[in-house]
Amino acid sequence: MARQPRQAMIAGNWKMHGTIAEACSLASALRSRLASAPADREVVVAPPFTALAAVGEALRGSAIALCAQNVHWETKGAFTGEVSPAMLAEVGCRWVIAGHSERRQLFGETDAGVNRRARGALEAGLRPIVCVGETLAERDAGRCFEVIERQTRAALLDLGSADIQALCIAYEPVWAIGTGRTATPGQAEEVHAVLRRIVAELAGKEISDHLRILYGGSVKPDNIDSLMAEPDVDGALVGGASLEAESFARIVEFRR
Ligand code: PEP
Repeated sequence: MARQPRQAMIAGNWKMHGTIAEACSLASALRSRLASAPADREVVVAPPFTALAAVGEALRGSAIALCAQNVHWETKGAFTGEVSPAMLAEVGCRWVIAGHSERRQLFGETDAGVNRRARGALEAGLRPIVCVGETLAERDAGRCFEVIERQTRAALLDLGSADIQALCIAYEPVWAIGTGRTATPGQAEEVHAVLRRIVAELAGKEISDHLRILYGGSVKPDNIDSLMAEPDVDGALVGGASLEAESFARIVEFRR
């Protein structure tokens, strides 16, 4: 089947790494390293909250977009430790990650919470990268597709077509995150195709054909090309390998 014309996207999740100075230095290195990268792909970085404003300044005028690693759904209020969509938009974020497995596993993020975060972001004009993915125990028990479907339907609950068009889904098998154990291109493609079918049921084939589905889980310079060769893999959400300009740049410069 012919590949749909979806713009590839490579997003770097810096997690809890980097002082403001370190984050700016990485952003500046990336900016110059990627100045001559192919322009047909979208590049996004997600520094820690404290570095967002400074990294936004360091990237001003470049094609690299700013992303937050999480977002609350309320506009303001007594929500200690949370950050509102408008606050993120104010510092220049265009994207936010919602439902990363580390949020789900370590901080009790629920399917319903992921939906609220995505909706809050969209209402403020931010574009969510909605993460879904099964644990190793779930995969070994043959429950991968059931888990993916539950997480996806819950995350997209009550979203209109325009909202679904604005977001990306990242398939991140929990067993592949930070473990060095990448899903094979075939495993990624199999789940991405199921995700696209679920979104077609929710929002129609046209929107589903245009939806970008990223793969995340130990993406590195030496496996990005084979992952991107799969027809339903439209990009990558990269953790560890996004912390070094050269390795992230090579991932951005994937070849199909
Ligand atoms: C992630 O944090 O989303 C991720 C995929 O991490 P890593 O690339 O390090 O596995």
